[in-house]
Amino acid sequence: CGIVGYIGHRNAWPIIIKGLKRLEYRGYDSAGVALIDNKNLNIYKKAGKVQVLEDYAADQNLNGNIGMGHTRWATHGAPSDRNSHPHTSNNKRFSIIHNGIIENYATLKEELIRRGHTFESDTDTEVLIHLIEEIYKNESVELFEAVRLALKEVNGAYAIVIMDSEQPDQLIAARKGSPMVIGVGEGEYFIASDATPIIEYTNNVIYLNDNEVAQVKTDSLIIKRLDNVIQTPYIQELELQL
Ligand code: GLU
Repeated sequence: CGIVGYIGHRNAWPIIIKGLKRLEYRGYDSAGVALIDNKNLNIYKKAGKVQVLEDYAADQNLNGNIGMGHTRWATHGAPSDRNSHPHTSNNKRFSIIHNGIIENYATLKEELIRRGHTFESDTDTEVLIHLIEEIYKNESVELFEAVRLALKEVNGAYAIVIMDSEQPDQLIAARKGSPMVIGVGEGEYFIASDATPIIEYTNNVIYLNDNEVAQVKTDSLIIKRLDNVIQTPYIQELELQL
């Protein structure tokens, strides 16, 4: 239900936790965060409030200049630690957070199981990251392209953020029918489901449109439509309200 992502020079964890708290007003049943520290993917997720997650993670390694966090409002799979986001690919290299619903997840899941994938949750979301992994492997394309191709096979609504622990220099974000804002800082980017987690860091924002996928790096931002047409990012200035 709520999404926060960060890539830049600061520690991602405090920015993400603070952001998730700002999104609490939307309602949710679970919370989770993924950080990449030296190509190691660390995931913390718990059913319950963001505070429960914070207490659980308090004495663990929370380093990482890239990360993403999620508050979940369960649609597929009961609220539980296991079904909380982020979810990972079969090889645990790729991770995803997702707001919305993947309508055709059951058909996709069947095919992926046939191809040897095993699933750890009952969510529609986990299917999407396995599909992306499968396309990445089979098509030998970059992750940005694998995400675009995967989304063309998906019906439903989504705002997603994806990370690759082998390439901790980028976040991939996409949306269709679910809001998504990218905050543009200096050598850093913020991603969120609305601007409230972003405004204390920057008032320059880009509202992603439906059917757009973005590759966000500390020093570059590329936005494509699902039909592969490159879009010129339109940076809007928000009224600064702290
Ligand atoms: N459909 C997903 C799930 O049940 C995402 C729900 C949400 O938007 O939080 O895990």
